[in-house]
Amino acid sequence: MKILITGGAGFIGSAVVRHILENSNDSIVNLDKLTYAGNLESLEDVADDSRYFFEQVDICNKLEVARVFKEHMPDVVMHLAAESHVDRSIDSPSDFIETNIVGTYNMLEIARAYWINLDKIKKRSFRFHHISTDEVFGDLEGDDDLFTEETPYAPSSPYSASKAASDHLVRAWFRTYNFPVVITNCSNNYGPYQFPEKLIPLAILNALSGTKLPIYGAGDQVRDWLFVDDHAEALYRVVLEGALGETYNIGGHNEKKNIDVVNTICDILDEIIPLEGDSYRDLITHVADRPGHDLRYAIDASKIARDLNWQPKETFESGIKKTVLWYLDNQNWCNSVKNK
Ligand code: NAD
Repeated sequence: MKILITGGAGFIGSAVVRHILENSNDSIVNLDKLTYAGNLESLEDVADDSRYFFEQVDICNKLEVARVFKEHMPDVVMHLAAESHVDRSIDSPSDFIETNIVGTYNMLEIARAYWINLDKIKKRSFRFHHISTDEVFGDLEGDDDLFTEETPYAPSSPYSASKAASDHLVRAWFRTYNFPVVITNCSNNYGPYQFPEKLIPLAILNALSGTKLPIYGAGDQVRDWLFVDDHAEALYRVVLEGALGETYNIGGHNEKKNIDVVNTICDILDEIIPLEGDSYRDLITHVADRPGHDLRYAIDASKIARDLNWQPKETFESGIKKTVLWYLDNQNWCNSVKNK
């Protein structure tokens, strides 16, 4: 099978590319614009694989996206390309509207025109997998509530609003045109190759360089953390076996307060490369909270466990240790993506 992956040079996309090439005979076409968040260094291990193809293309460029479909004739699409950083969406929403909404619309229209003309067998097995976030649901009130596939959308930031809009488009293309789609909404990911502007890599790298570890407000915001390789495995399962028109929530069953995540990173570093007499925790500084900051996200992932037999393999404790060690061993990657 040939899989067209958009955003394959990003954090999650590159994990999906590596996962599929390592665990199947499938071929991959990676369509990526290479924004600041897209880095081919993350794919060095697979770049020479004869089943891997790269196309530097913007999903907003209709002619180029149509050319990629025509030349590569994919069997399925996994659409991950997006602007993904909430703080950037607050400072400057325009790229989020362009890529996440208009870009997804382009992908849907070009993929639909391609799908309509496929032969019967290819047409029946074709699907468009849209990868989204649990942030579309807004935040949870009580301590016990969980996001299910039926939770109403209530996005809080320009990022989550743009992702919510794209989810609605994908659903409408299923309902209106019978276009074969499947959607996943996942909780916060962490792991190797995450651009060092997000909480976990930022905390690790700041601690290593002895710089302050900024925490929004008291750090009480709760997120459900999923190790990125577990997400990649879930996405591959969904694109192969997910039911058309369905949504699957994906989560790690690892609810942690931001302050506890950063404390854990400090404790691991205290153990591996201790500071004389001090703790990395001393670097933590509380800064003014992000406007509209959601307090708690948590996923009910029972549907994907029941219907597709997927469960995360990594606990937060094992995953965060692997992640800290990876950043320690891959300072070259960090410097290269930061200097870009
Ligand atoms: P990322 O920012 O690391 O990577 C995004 C990739 O998309 C980059 O390679 C970038 O170059 C590419 N891209 C951006 N604009 C593009 C455009 N116009 N045309 C083509 N390529 C473009 O993002 P990520 O964290 O890997 O997230 C991937 C997807 O998963 C996103 O759709 C995001 O909403 C979703 N998601 C992320 C998380 C998370 O915790 N990171 C959780 C749930 C869902």
